[in-house]
Amino acid sequence: MQGEFATPEGCPALVLNADFRPLSYYPLSLWSWQDAIKAVFLDRVNIVSNYDVAVHSPSFEMQLPSVVSLKTYLKPAQYPAFTRFNLFLRDSFLCQYCGDEHELTFDHVIPRRLGGQTTWENVITACAPCNLRKGGKLPKEAGMIPRQKPFRPTVNELHKNGRRFPPNYLHESWRDYLYWDSELEA
Ligand SMILES: [Zn+2]
Repeated sequence: MQGEFATPEGCPALVLNADFRPLSYYPLSLWSWQDAIKAVFLDRVNIVSNYDVAVHSPSFEMQLPSVVSLKTYLKPAQYPAFTRFNLFLRDSFLCQYCGDEHELTFDHVIPRRLGGQTTWENVITACAPCNLRKGGKLPKEAGMIPRQKPFRPTVNELHKNGRRFPPNYLHESWRDYLYWDSELEA
């Protein structure tokens, strides 16, 4: 199969739940065009919107879906995945020691050498200079106390920050489904 106007690889489909909210926000639920088309043929999704890109083989031609919705409602996850992006998002992309927004890294509040875990409750956003200054010390030893105690956020808590830090790439057909409900939930 060949794309006609653009490469199909650049055309993921946003996956909505049966209530037309994204199946997942963090990370955003996206399927490859192959998975989206497979789900259409298996009758598991409805096509909500299409790209101006078609794929074709000798026997058929089809526009690539840009938004699909599940036919069966799935209970959404309450907690987001523990990822680099989600951790930065929880901390609003700010160093939790000095508030700087540049050269962001991750700091283990209780250092790993003292048994500190790599978890929501022990990892925070820190700028490189603060991370270096704190080194392998405990917050009290270093005199550096995080502005907020690290915690495992719910999807709703991340969503409050999510509007301010949208993903780099959003197809225009996705926008209606991403942020319309934030105001109501806030
Ligand atoms: Zn800092």
